[in-house]
Amino acid sequence: MSTAPAETIFADAVLNAWLAGVGLAVEYVRAEGNTLYYRDDRGDEVAVLDLLCGFGSLIFGHHHPEIVAHAKAALDAGIPVHAQLSKQPHGNQVGAALNAIVRRETGRDDRYTAVFANSGAEAIEICMKHAELERRDRVRALMDEVAEHLEQARRAVRGGAATAAAAGSDDAGAVGDPVERFEALAAEVSRRNAELLGRPPLFLALEGAFHGKLVGSIQLTQNEQWRAPFAALAPAARFLPAADPEAFAKAVASLREYALDVIIDAGKVRLVERDFPLVGALFVEPVRGGAGMRPVTAALAREIERTAATLGCPVVVDEVQSGMGRTGAFLASSHMGLRGDYYTLAKSIGGGIAKNSVVLVRQDRFRPEFEVIHSSTFAKDGFSGAIALKTLEMLEANDGEAYRVAAERGGRLAVTLAAVQADFPDVVTGVHGIGLMLAMELAEQSESASEVIREPARAGFLGYFLAGYLLRRHRIRVLPAGPAWNSVRFEPSIYLTDQDIERIDIALRAMCSILRSEDGGALL
Ligand code: PMP
Repeated sequence: MSTAPAETIFADAVLNAWLAGVGLAVEYVRAEGNTLYYRDDRGDEVAVLDLLCGFGSLIFGHHHPEIVAHAKAALDAGIPVHAQLSKQPHGNQVGAALNAIVRRETGRDDRYTAVFANSGAEAIEICMKHAELERRDRVRALMDEVAEHLEQARRAVRGGAATAAAAGSDDAGAVGDPVERFEALAAEVSRRNAELLGRPPLFLALEGAFHGKLVGSIQLTQNEQWRAPFAALAPAARFLPAADPEAFAKAVASLREYALDVIIDAGKVRLVERDFPLVGALFVEPVRGGAGMRPVTAALAREIERTAATLGCPVVVDEVQSGMGRTGAFLASSHMGLRGDYYTLAKSIGGGIAKNSVVLVRQDRFRPEFEVIHSSTFAKDGFSGAIALKTLEMLEANDGEAYRVAAERGGRLAVTLAAVQADFPDVVTGVHGIGLMLAMELAEQSESASEVIREPARAGFLGYFLAGYLLRRHRIRVLPAGPAWNSVRFEPSIYLTDQDIERIDIALRAMCSILRSEDGGALL
């Protein structure tokens, strides 16, 4: 067997070239806590403060010794990793632990069925599938009712107890054969309702949403560059205003679709409109990461719950990034009192070493057939389950100390970021987020006198360019907050130290000074 030369690139050639262009093409060789290491030209390890932490997957940092020891012990004990279609006790214990935690934190006696998957996007698509099962039931119930009303009306017209309006009008005194008039009316009902039945479901999400990049979930991720090429593949989504609950309510109202039904009113058969359940689910990130770490307000949370109740659809609270303690609570939605019919969790539930995700579906909505008709080979495996249990145990230990630390460390970092903003209001336009899910928003630099700053700003990747500078000059690893390219995101583990925060302060002030003085050369 021949060995390929080390420099041959078999994957990510385009991405690697691009990373090199912005100064992020680094090969990390070791990871520990909030630190990643690469080797310099002499072969010595160089430590980098990792504030990206696996896009928020490392609430306890890289390779937490307790989690690593637990993983080793589980493998040494020979726990069954793959025992599909058996009782899979680890997954079931994770489901029970999650129920206990969610009940404690929300103070509500809701029970949830746990469905396991492998990634955040997969969890979202499970929600889409389950929501569609629910929607089909709502559609069926409505169509059964309409069919019954048509039958009653038909009998009444044939028996002479009622007369029918002409199709397309409300004129109950129309001329011609009443039975024919009724059948024309019934045909209009069938035509309209068949048209609605042929439409794919509509999913709702908030403006700036990020819910994943698979075939279905990409439709719920607003970024055009990622979504548009695949628009024809999946059901459509609508993105609703997140800043203003009134605008949100108006946008929802404009999406309502009406099926036709008949009633007998004072001896006359009339057409009436009925709300058609076109909407499958309403997806909400409690903190919109891709929009620059923007928390949902309590007022919007109320409007979301009201809307979902009116539409009869579930609220899916996407806690893939914000959950698992990152914001100082197990669920970020607890901060705004937003109640999910479904919750998604991923990222940190893997303890930094496993791939895992889970959907919680409230049991009064759960469709038991889902357990049979949905599956994935790797989902609910024993290893990920054992790691998830350990991670949950660590979060809950000492009366939830980890949550308090996340809130306190995040608060300290936010104060530092706000102080930088106060000193550089011309460069920093905002600091957003909760707990250890923060972003610093930067002013547009597309008119900078420095070409080195202006060009990446105009091309929409200044945030990456600045991340390259912070890595090279300050040994700090950050990225922009998703499509909010002109931002810097911070998602460290709870082990962020005061010294780390001091380093961040110094680095950000240096970066802001360069932007202010339009001294692009200093970034190179
Ligand atoms: N939902 C949210 C809120 C996310 O932040 C992410 C990932 N950043 C996803 C879904 C998709 O998760 P994954 O990358 O594991 O598919």
